Amino acid sequence: MSTVQARKEETVVSEKEGRKITVIPRYCKGCEICVALCPKSVLEIREFKVYVARIEDCNECLLCEIRCPDFAIEVEGKGKKGKS
Ligand code: SF4
Ligand code: SF4
Repeated sequence: MSTVQARKEETVVSEKEGRKITVIPRYCKGCEICVALCPKSVLEIREFKVYVARIEDCNECLLCEIRCPDFAIEVEGKGKKGKS
């Protein structure tokens, strides 16, 4: 096969004041682990996928990113080293 994977992974990006949360819906199975762990109630499940409902409340603890078993969510912000 010579198909070139030119398309980027489809992502849903939420951004506010230097903070960015990226979700890859195709990877998310709606298990709610991130929703349960988030200390700031930033995340919800909508239509069986994670949804960033209150990005302004995120404290960049990275629990959602670290504990997601499917690498479906990534948090970038001022406090995260190596990323901006
Ligand atoms: S933990 Fe990962 S797979 Fe589970 S709902 Fe959250 S983003 Fe989706
Ligand atoms: S980084 Fe922490 S506060 Fe922000 S959405 Fe993820 S679990 Fe919630």
